[in-house]
Amino acid sequence: MRSAGKIEIDLAALSHNLRQVRIRHKNILAVVKADAYGHGAVEVARALTRDAGVFMLGVAYLDEAISLRSAGVALPILLMTGAPADQIPEIVHHRITPVLFDAQSLTLLGQYLETHRQTMNVHIKVDTGMGRLGVSVADAPDLIRKAHAQYGLRVEGLLTHLADADLQDLSFAREQISRFEGLRSLLARDGLPIRHCHFANSAAIMRLDTLGAADTDLVRPGLMLYGYVSGGGGRSLRPVMRVRARVLAIRNFPAGTGIGYGHTYTTSRESRIAVTSIGYADGYPLALSNKGVMLAGGRRVPVVGRVCMDMTMIDVTAVPSLQVGDWVTVIGAEGDAFVGADELARLCETIPYEILCGVGSRIPRHYVSSSPSSGDSLGDSPAEF
Ligand SMILES: *Cc1c(COP(=O)(O)O)cnc(C)c1O
Repeated sequence: MRSAGKIEIDLAALSHNLRQVRIRHKNILAVVKADAYGHGAVEVARALTRDAGVFMLGVAYLDEAISLRSAGVALPILLMTGAPADQIPEIVHHRITPVLFDAQSLTLLGQYLETHRQTMNVHIKVDTGMGRLGVSVADAPDLIRKAHAQYGLRVEGLLTHLADADLQDLSFAREQISRFEGLRSLLARDGLPIRHCHFANSAAIMRLDTLGAADTDLVRPGLMLYGYVSGGGGRSLRPVMRVRARVLAIRNFPAGTGIGYGHTYTTSRESRIAVTSIGYADGYPLALSNKGVMLAGGRRVPVVGRVCMDMTMIDVTAVPSLQVGDWVTVIGAEGDAFVGADELARLCETIPYEILCGVGSRIPRHYVSSSPSSGDSLGDSPAEF
């Protein structure tokens, strides 16, 4: 074994998921932060660039934006965590669009642009109730007026982020949207209209009708592009990532044998135990010890014992055909069976985001394009969120 396993990234599924968003939204800001949720930001961005519907990419930190630019990605990139003073020259140089939410960075950016006789687009972030980044709704008009007055700044966008769009109870999400819409009309009345006003992450995009949201000309999907949604729904999406591991060894143990560190599992009958080539150092959570499920020979089999740093044991008594060197599926589909990042997340009380982002620091990624009808992908039902 040269590596812990392999990750297959299905670009056809990515493009399918993008189309699902595009059915209703013209302008898409594709969120590719955290290495595109573990899918590889450069390759994902290139694939999305080939798709005419992407208006912009979104990243969290400057290095993420610069590696996209270095790879030749020319789309506008929104830097969503602000423009720290020491990063301004590079932000301007690489033509990154920063999200701004305080007067100081706005002034510093304006001064830099004036000195260098340049102009750039910015988006202003307002906190309508997330309690994270953003100028307060009350202070937003002043900040936006200031931005308009600064040399070189073009206020292209106004955004906010919803705290609760994935909950059953959408009342607070509705409240946030109404504060946002209120601000937007106030700005329009004051002669400060903003071209792109955006608030919708994947969960909000899936529930726009229920949210009763009016016009959303620009949306910011992340998770759903990769085939998952938090809070349910998403049957029309196709998971993009498939994680596979190899079988390193298989042994038969009699009943009563302790398996792995701490003997947290003891065989209750004669058992065939396979050692797979993935562990917590590859992002397979320790919390899946004695809880996880993998696919072996197209069947669901349980993780037994503690997940180790480099290996995880599974009980393959029910899969006599499985041999050393065979592949097992850790996340994704195999034949008709499927284990999703969302299912694993539920099993170990986390969220699919953390599972996807965590996988793969040590596992090489391969880019493939499956057809939706091939046995290894999910059924392709019509769009219905
Ligand atoms: C991460 C992020 C998104 C995307 O969220 P998903 O839930 O993955 O769709 C959208 N907007 C902002 C500001 C984000 O930080």
